[in-house]
Amino acid sequence: MPNTRYIFITGGVASSLGKGVTIASIGALLEARGFKVTIQKMDPYINEDPGTMSPFQHGEVYVTEDGAETDLDLGYYERFTNSKLTKLNSITTGQIYKTVIERERQGEYQGRTVQVIPHITNEIKSRILKLKNADPELDFILVEIGGTVGDIESVPFLEAIRQFRFDNGREKTLYIHLTLVPTISVAGEIKTKPTQHSVKELLKQGIQPDILISRATKPLTPEIKWKISQFTNVPSDRVFSAADIDYTIYEVPLNLHQERIDDVIIQYFGMESVSPLFQGEMNPMLQKWEKIVDYFKNPATTVKIAIVGKYVEVSDAYRSLYEALWHGGFPHNCKVEYIKIDSEKITPENYKEYLSGIQGILVPGGFGNRGVEGKLISIRYARESKIPYFGICLGMQCAVIEYARNVLGLEGANSTEFNPDTPHPVIHIMDEQIGIDKMGGTTRKGAYPCQIQDNTRMEEAYEQKTIHERHRHRYEFNNLYLDQYLRKGLVVSGVSPDNKLVEAVELSRNNHPWFVGTQFHPEFQSKPHKPHPLFVKFIEAAIQYQKVNP
Ligand code: GLN
Repeated sequence: MPNTRYIFITGGVASSLGKGVTIASIGALLEARGFKVTIQKMDPYINEDPGTMSPFQHGEVYVTEDGAETDLDLGYYERFTNSKLTKLNSITTGQIYKTVIERERQGEYQGRTVQVIPHITNEIKSRILKLKNADPELDFILVEIGGTVGDIESVPFLEAIRQFRFDNGREKTLYIHLTLVPTISVAGEIKTKPTQHSVKELLKQGIQPDILISRATKPLTPEIKWKISQFTNVPSDRVFSAADIDYTIYEVPLNLHQERIDDVIIQYFGMESVSPLFQGEMNPMLQKWEKIVDYFKNPATTVKIAIVGKYVEVSDAYRSLYEALWHGGFPHNCKVEYIKIDSEKITPENYKEYLSGIQGILVPGGFGNRGVEGKLISIRYARESKIPYFGICLGMQCAVIEYARNVLGLEGANSTEFNPDTPHPVIHIMDEQIGIDKMGGTTRKGAYPCQIQDNTRMEEAYEQKTIHERHRHRYEFNNLYLDQYLRKGLVVSGVSPDNKLVEAVELSRNNHPWFVGTQFHPEFQSKPHKPHPLFVKFIEAAIQYQKVNP
């Protein structure tokens, strides 16, 4: 049984430095040596999960196969590594306190005062160990502590990982601290002081980092590394730069490898450089990443896809989607540029201005009525002008509504989410769901099977009869209207195995070059090394559209 090692990453100086991408990249480098890894995120906020948070606040809510609504960093973990993430991989302060308080109510603490130390910290530590119990074969468990060192909220988590080393030994635990080393633009000077302070802050919590990674505009010089080392007790050969990337985040594993961080980690733990079970060579694994970066550097073509959504000004609100679009371009050596369009701004008068010069339209998932009419206008344009269209979740529901209004002639057709009194509720909540209206935890979430119909775009993409895709929604296609749709040419190309739920609709290839809507979110399963087939086909259609409409 492998001797599991634990790597913790904390962040300092500023938020949004890319801890998630950094730890995911380290995971990828360890996997390239044949080791088995998983990655866990600890989020210090009090929400039980980000499921009820607005994407304006929090960015995308990533959904795991077992239906956990999690931080978008888990998306990076799954895209960069082979680890299969579950509910166990995402922890929040809310979950920890909830468990401890429930236990207290049941009298499990036998009259003792329940305190942050040891009760909360013990619960946090036990959540790390649960991962090991779930998969004893793991060589590494990587843990990202959300937030920034110095935040009040993260103190119990830092204390828990401090204790974790005390419990398990230095030889099994490694602390990485990611900081910012800014350059003052006027003087062009590189400043190490914020990093010095950040490490002091960590020391106050009893944690001496073993490795520092510094985000900087350019790679750090040996002198700067030496200076950081002098102030932080971290040997200068364990101070690494994470310089700004040139083309894509997929450069990060390669950049960190060039800095030899994976060698240092392996040496730190006194391990063999590759897993004893490892058959292959490391270089081919890295070449796979090089190839990905090359798609961004030297694409043969570029297509533009309009994403007509509500949360367009938040850079991370559709993170998995943006990446799935890139991935869809890889097999065609095509660079995908996404143009984010605020659907609220689209009107019957101006839509062509917004949607000119694009080769595909995508309406992503979303909640609430705002901006829906702009989405319907865009979908009508895609359908009538034969522009490739991909509707995901809400984007499929909107395609169904648009078809009802403009093809079936059902005036005022809508989803009961947007108009509970609509005369034609073509999207509705199913009877068995009525009555569950508590916020959070009531949606259909996680992976469900779907049966694919023959001779459809879906079949052409998946080349399979049964697929499993992840969901996150409450409303469904209303089967009372099914016959009307079928008579008017809408193709139902995916259904649940019991035939009760419509999971995918499309237009037949005689009527449209590519028009597909899915009730599930395929973007959650797309990886750079394994682009999702629906995205591959959507981009193929966009390239074709460009050839015909240069
Ligand atoms: N709001 C819709 C529903 O709940 C769609 C959700 C989504 O797009 N993720 O069914």
